[in-house]
This record gives sequence, structure tokens and C-alpha cells, in this order.
Amino acid sequence: MYTKTIDFSKFSSIKVGVPIEVLMIERGDEIPKDRLIIGHANNLLVSSNPPPLMMLSKDFAFIELEDGLLIVGCATPTGKLLSFAKKNNLAGFEFISKLPGSIGGMLAMNAGVKSYEIFNILDAIKIDGEWVEKESIEHGYRFAKLGGVATEVRFKVTEGFSQELLNELINLRANQPKTASAGSAFKNPEGDHAGRLIEEVGLKGVSKGAMEWSTVHANFLVNHGGGTFEDAKYLINLAKERVLEKFGVALVEEVQFLEEI
Ligand SMILES: Cc1cc2nc3c(=O)[nH]c(=O)nc-3n(C[C@H](O)[C@H](O)[C@H](O)COP(=O)(O)OP(=O)(O)OC[C@H]3O[C@@H](n4cnc5c(N)ncnc54)[C@H](O)[C@@H]3O)c2cc1C
Repeated sequence: MYTKTIDFSKFSSIKVGVPIEVLMIERGDEIPKDRLIIGHANNLLVSSNPPPLMMLSKDFAFIELEDGLLIVGCATPTGKLLSFAKKNNLAGFEFISKLPGSIGGMLAMNAGVKSYEIFNILDAIKIDGEWVEKESIEHGYRFAKLGGVATEVRFKVTEGFSQELLNELINLRANQPKTASAGSAFKNPEGDHAGRLIEEVGLKGVSKGAMEWSTVHANFLVNHGGGTFEDAKYLINLAKERVLEKFGVALVEEVQFLEEI
């Protein structure tokens, strides 16, 4: 293992943060228990004082296909897996287009679009060195209790990549802002949309510093350049307060705050 200084104002998708030293895990290393694993920071708001962090090195960025079993290392970018599935005519991976991040992050978030989620198609995950079958891992809408560091995931694959489905999913994304963000700020409450609620309490387009509730889609907190963690947190808390007050709905963050408490 080795350390690497990562500037989260450049690395994270929302472009918020400062340079932080991160421990890089290599193949064969014992995984520390006192650090928080991160992926490619597409779902994170990193403060200037986060807990000690670690990340999987490129050793865990691989894709192997043999006898109908696909094994993917958890540092693999989602785009690489999508291209592989397309090239090898594999079914079921179309939805990961437009879900930026690493495979490890996808697993921990049970990332997905509409009814397509990563847990629907996987078979088992290697967590802290042991293969764990999907059935033994508690998971649901945008969460999975991995209980450790995922290093590899296994899929049983079938043929039939659908370009049609891919196009459909890409079109679905047309209503999302292109400005830097961490995706949806809040999970959708049951039977409703967080974006609708944020809009209804008058926050669409409201900003603090360079951070703004997007005018394109109100559940996206966007950074127009140089936005801070504190401003992002202020807007998130403001939305929670207003939505609770007006609708009695307690919004739950999808984006994760990394701050030492
Ligand atoms: C423009 C945009 C659009 C998005 N749209 C969607 C969407 O439609 N649907 C959706 O679900 N998400 C969406 N996201 C969010 C994001 O793409 C996913 O959450 C993605 O899976 C995050 O991956 P990551 O590698 O960046 O993880 P990170 O953001 O780095 O980490 C996310 C979580 O995963 C954990 N984690 C990371 N790696 C591991 C590992 N190896 N083992 C155990 N835990 C780990 C971290 O501790 C953290 O809790 C969007 C994001 C952006 C920027």
C-alpha cells in the first residue's frame, strides 16, 4: 500500500473539497479496519476534515470472462464494464451507462436507474477477502450493507446486449444538469420525487456561494465553480427543513457527507 494526495476539488464529480492524503490498497495488502473506503467520489461531499480514507488501486481494475462467469475488480470504472458488455454481447449491463463511478461504489450504493439495480444482476461479492452470496447481503433502494471492502464481484452472464435499451436509458438522462454534481442529492421518498418536493418549497434555482439547487432538475445540487462543502451542506439542510415543515416528509440524503464529527 502507498499514500496518494487526492485533490477532491478536482477528483470528485461535484468538485468540492481540498487535497487529502488517501491510502491506496494494492493486491495482497491486508485491508485496514480504521479507514473509510471510497470509490471514484461521484456520490460524495468531502469536507476539509474527512475521516481517514482509503481507495483500491489499479490492481483491482480488471474484467475477466470465463465459462459464463464474469469477474470484475471493484476499482473498474463503470464505463469500462459497459464497453466490455457491449463488445462481448452481454445482457443486463445497459443501465450502468451514465452511472459514473467505480464498481465498488455501485455495489455499496446498489446504484441503479428505475427498476434496474446492480444487485438484480450480480451473483456474489468478495468482501474483505471472502466471497459472499447476494442472498446473504441486506440491500434495497440505494443501499447495501456490505460490512467491509468489496474487491471483486461475480456475475453469471447471458448473451444479448440491447442497444435499444441503452438508447432508451440515455434519453431518460436528458433532463439532468451537465454542471458538476454528485447525482441526486436525496433519495426519492416512497411514492414521490425529492426533486418535486424541493421545487414545491421554492428552492429550485436557489444558491449559496457557487452551489445551487439546479434549475434543470431540483434534486441535483450543482457547483458552478469553487463551491464549498459548507455551502453544499447549508443548502441540503435548508431543503430538509423546508420539506419537513411543509410536507412532513423527512428527506434522506443519497449523497454522502465525509466529515470527522
Ligand atoms: C451526474 C451523476 C448522475 C448520477 N446518477 C445516478 C443514478 O441515476 N443512479 C444512481 O444510483 N446513482 C447515480 N449517481 C451516483 C453515482 O454514480 C453512484 O452512487 C456510484 O455508484 C458511485 O460510485 P463511486 O465509485 O463514485 O463511489 P463513491 O462516491 O466514491 O462512494 C460511494 C459509497 O460507496 C462506498 N464504497 C466505494 N467503494 C467501495 C468498496 N470497494 N467497498 C465498499 N464500499 C465502497 C463508499 O464508502 C461510499 O459509501 C450519479 C452521479 C452523478 C455525478
